[in-house]
Amino acid sequence: MESAGLKPEGVVLRGGFVVAMDAFRTAAPRDIHLGTDGRITAVLPPRTPVPGASDVDVVGLTVVPGLVQAHLHLCQTLFRGLGEARPLLRWLRERIWPLEGAHDRESMRASADLGIHELLRGGTTSVLDMGSVHHADALFESARDAGIRYVGGKAMMDAGDGVPETLLETTNDSIRESDRLRDRWEGAASGRLRHAWCPRFVLSCTTEALRAVADRSRATGGVIHTHASEQPDEAAIVRAAHGAPNIATLARLGITGARAVLAHGVWPEDDEVALLARDGTHIVHCPSSNLKLGSGVAPVRRYLDTGVSVALGADGAACSNALDAWGEMRLAHLLASLVGGPGSVSAEEVFALATLGGARALGLEGHVGAIAPGMQADLVAVASDGAHQSGGGDPYVRLVHATTARDVRSVWVGGRQVVADGMVVTLDEDTVTHEADAARARVAARAGVPLA
Ligand SMILES: [Zn+2]
Repeated sequence: MESAGLKPEGVVLRGGFVVAMDAFRTAAPRDIHLGTDGRITAVLPPRTPVPGASDVDVVGLTVVPGLVQAHLHLCQTLFRGLGEARPLLRWLRERIWPLEGAHDRESMRASADLGIHELLRGGTTSVLDMGSVHHADALFESARDAGIRYVGGKAMMDAGDGVPETLLETTNDSIRESDRLRDRWEGAASGRLRHAWCPRFVLSCTTEALRAVADRSRATGGVIHTHASEQPDEAAIVRAAHGAPNIATLARLGITGARAVLAHGVWPEDDEVALLARDGTHIVHCPSSNLKLGSGVAPVRRYLDTGVSVALGADGAACSNALDAWGEMRLAHLLASLVGGPGSVSAEEVFALATLGGARALGLEGHVGAIAPGMQADLVAVASDGAHQSGGGDPYVRLVHATTARDVRSVWVGGRQVVADGMVVTLDEDTVTHEADAARARVAARAGVPLA
């Protein structure tokens, strides 16, 4: 395959089978014309001439919209394998918070590079990321240089039990640093980088900080990203502290509506599901994280039937161990079958969570998540002719169940090719791995966490 450096008239991806997630749910052989502005100019019948454009051969590949993960912690990629066998609150207090607090700017960059390499290599082109308290600039810098579409911000932690002093901050400092990050990064890299307010969860923030975030989001249209109702013991502590369940508490403080993105939502109370649907608040389903931490299974069918907007995410590598959107899709579909019976959620619905649902959560609906004229040219070409994929039937089933991150061949973000022939072209794998190893050893030693 030739590389897709854009010529004046753009390039045409020729010979692929396109699963577009457009209004018609096109799943057919199509050619795709990428304009010089990084957007899709046209989706064409095969072999339609496009004068002046150069052709890129994607014969034998399935071309899908770039996958969107709406809940990640790139700051934790270094900590894969270091927080095993603990439920949520012990996992945070004994491992993750001390490790995050031991980051330096270079280790944060190494963690982000490691994560973004894995994400791009596996076809994830857009992310909503919660950073740690400090060094969030390094996350934006990594995303800027590697070419991923990034929405994120620093974790806000101005309260909470068991928070190490390396992370605990004053309310003023927390808000001021978030404001600075927004000023510095919102709309950077031609709009590819966006800022999000990231109060970590209700238990780590004062109501003053949460209200300040709600006010700022309302004024600026910025995304708010937080965790909610992940585990029963967490939900019980929130209820005891605030006199209301978790999602209702957030709504009362103004963290609700189309700009609010809540990770997990495993344990909503009955009237909270209707509240989410009414306000347009997004839930991010994180199946592998929820299974690994023993959190439970989010009621995805119920959310969809009630009209709640749902996206998918791998959470951090320290809990899910893999930042793999294909794995999350497969688990989401399997869990839905277990809970509601086979066919209760279709493979097409699951694929929509990882594309259209993610785009909605990131505030990028109409820009990413589908292949159609005018959309960003965020595209993934995956092999679909492997022996492990041989079979018939629904193309969405093949994508969700028989396609893996290793099947990804080429990836474009805003028309720029970031993966070619299965290799990330914006990050060197050996360098990323080597720098991550050195950074992990340094941070773990500082945190007093054993590496093995
Ligand atoms: Zn998380």
